[in-house]
Amino acid sequence: MPKILDGKELAQKIRSNLKIKVDELKLEGIHPKLAVIMVGEDPSSKIYVRNKSKACEEIGIEYEEFLLKDTIQMEELLKLIDTLNKRQDVHGILLQSPIPNNLDINLAFKSIVPEKDVDGFNPVNVGRLCLNQDGFVSCTPFGVMKLLEEYNIDVEGKNAVIIGRSNIVGKPMAQCLLNKNATITICHSKTKELDKITKTADILISAVGRPKFVKKNMVKEGAVVIDVGTNRLEDGKLVGDVDFDEVAPITSYITKVPGGVGPMTIAMLMTNIVKAAGM
Ligand code: NAP
Repeated sequence: MPKILDGKELAQKIRSNLKIKVDELKLEGIHPKLAVIMVGEDPSSKIYVRNKSKACEEIGIEYEEFLLKDTIQMEELLKLIDTLNKRQDVHGILLQSPIPNNLDINLAFKSIVPEKDVDGFNPVNVGRLCLNQDGFVSCTPFGVMKLLEEYNIDVEGKNAVIIGRSNIVGKPMAQCLLNKNATITICHSKTKELDKITKTADILISAVGRPKFVKKNMVKEGAVVIDVGTNRLEDGKLVGDVDFDEVAPITSYITKVPGGVGPMTIAMLMTNIVKAAGM
C-alpha cells in the first residue's frame, strides 16, 4: 500500500514553528501583518479568505481585510495597493483571485511591491524563481516541494510530469522541480496522448480541476502522485483530480484531498508572511 503524504499534519507542524517565530518577532517590536484584498462576493474566495484569516489568528499574525465592490474601477484597486505598499505596519499583501474581468489582474499583481508579494505572483518574484534566486514562491508549488522534502522524496534526476500550466500552480511547480534537478514535462489541454506521457512520470502532479481525471492507466507503478485539484461535487464533497481508490494502490506515495496540498498552501502563505516581516 502507498504511503500517504499527509499535508494536514505537516502544515500543523509548520504553523506551530511559525508561531514561535512570530512570538520572537513581536519581542523585537515587529508585529507581522497580512492585508487581504477581495473584490466582489465569490463564494469560494470567501471560504479561502476565511481559512487564511483563521490561520493568521492561530499563529498570531495580524490580519486586515479590504472588501471591495465588484463595480470598482482599476484606479481604485491600484490606489489601495499603493497605500498598502507604503504602510509600514503591513508586511504581506494578498489579492484574492478571481477578480472581475474588467479589472487587470496582472497589473494588480505587478503593482504589489515584490517585498510584500507573499503569494509570489509579482513578475519580479516569478523571475527570481526562474533564475533560482531567493524570493517569494507561489504557495501551492512551495507547499508541494515542502511535502516532498518532508518525506525524503529526492526529485533529482526523476521524471516529473505536471498536468496544468497555470501561472499560479503548473508553471511555478515545474520551475520548483527543475530547480531541484528533476526532468520536467508540462501537459495541458492541447497535449496529445496524455496518458502515455503521464505514464513516464516518477512524480506526477495534477492541477487540472476535474474530478477523477487521473485514472490508473495514466500512472506508472510505484509513482509519487500529488493531487493539487480541488473540486466541489454536487453533494458538497471536496475531491481532487485523482481517482484515489483506483490509483492509490499502484503508487508509492500519494496525497489525499482534503488533507494534502490544500493545508500546505496556507502553511506556506504563513511562512511567506513571516519571512516578509523578518526582512
Ligand atoms: P486553471 O488555471 O484552470 O488551469 C487548469 C490547467 O489544466 C490548464 O493549464 C489547462 O490547460 C489544464 N487542463 C484542462 N483540461 C485538461 C485536459 N483535458 N488535459 C490536460 N490538461 C488540461 O487551474 P489552476 O488555478 O491551476 O488550478 C488547478 C486545480 O488546482 C483547481 O482544481 C484548483 O481549484 C486547484 N488548486 C488547488 C490549490 C490548493 O491549495 N490545493 C491551489 C490552487 C489551485 P490549458 O492551459 O490548455 O487550458
